Amino acid sequence: MSRFMNPRFAALRPYVPGEQPREMRYVKLNTNESPYPPAPAVLAAVSAAEVRRLNLYPDPDCRLLREKLAARYGVGPENVLVANGSDEVLNFAFMAFCDAESGVACPDISYGFYPVLAALYGVPLREVPLAEDFSLRPEDYFGLGCPVVFANPNAPTGRAIRPAQVERILQNDPDHVVLVDEAYVDFGAESCVPLVSKYDNLLVSMTFSKSRSMAGGRLGFAIGSAGLIGDLEKIRCSTNPYNINRLTMAAALATLDSDDYYMENCRRIAQTRDRTAEQLAKRGFSTLPSLTNFLFTACPEMSGEQLYQKLRARGVLVRYWNTPRLKDYIRVTIGSPEEMETFLAAVDASREER
Ligand SMILES: *Cc1c(COP(=O)(O)O)cnc(C)c1O
Repeated sequence: MSRFMNPRFAALRPYVPGEQPREMRYVKLNTNESPYPPAPAVLAAVSAAEVRRLNLYPDPDCRLLREKLAARYGVGPENVLVANGSDEVLNFAFMAFCDAESGVACPDISYGFYPVLAALYGVPLREVPLAEDFSLRPEDYFGLGCPVVFANPNAPTGRAIRPAQVERILQNDPDHVVLVDEAYVDFGAESCVPLVSKYDNLLVSMTFSKSRSMAGGRLGFAIGSAGLIGDLEKIRCSTNPYNINRLTMAAALATLDSDDYYMENCRRIAQTRDRTAEQLAKRGFSTLPSLTNFLFTACPEMSGEQLYQKLRARGVLVRYWNTPRLKDYIRVTIGSPEEMETFLAAVDASREER
């Protein structure tokens, strides 16, 4: 830190993303990207003609995109916020709804960005332990008297709770925002979006990064009551009203026109996931039930870090966490069927070598 930086950031430790190797000699199963390319309509939409218009600012209201998202999710445009990745949705939500007095609650095992944002905004973090089997117990969140954020399905576990369970949390603290991060919802879980019309304290965030093959385009969105979305819009327009660039906007509109293509890809990924889980079970791994595009799995005789190292040496990247409850596990993104064959072969070779 230079002597010029505000000392209140002295203890801030930024989020550490999964590695993005420059050379593509790895089978990349470490950051939950889609193995499938964007739809042909997206390639056509990001055209030379669109590039030629880059001299002009994009639409600061993102009107077309919000209307299309609203139609897709059965809400009004006033219920939709768009952002530069769902990380930006989270950023805006922490800025808007969390303060130093009440703090913010989240599971002790969840998306690593929540503690970073809490630290960034000086909001005390109230970590709520998951159950022994890594499931989230709704009753642990009743009446905490502060905003709550969790990923559903959760990361890196892959487990999900039903909307009826989320509803109990919403009812038990109607005066605080409950932010449900649905980054992985398209891979088989049930969305809480239908609850938005009933609960003005519910904010659902989603992303094009995982299920819609657009991690590199950076598009996230939130669905909530007009009141919550209005608050987030106020923050968005006070930080970066042009947060969605022209090329991403064009790509996102074409993505929504190709919804069947993406939802079919999600079904393929779910199928590959379930086949991979079976293969791991045959090998004696213990794998958590997953409704996402990744598996959280423990090898019987190696730590997560050991297996990660051995897989890496064989050209396969996964993720691991060196914390007491997670150290036995790796998180492996579901790639194409061929990539998962390569992964399983690398697992077998890693174990034979010992
Ligand atoms: C990947 C991920 C995000 C961030 O997604 P972006 O839209 O790429 O910023 C948010 N929440 C969870 C739980 C994620 O896994």
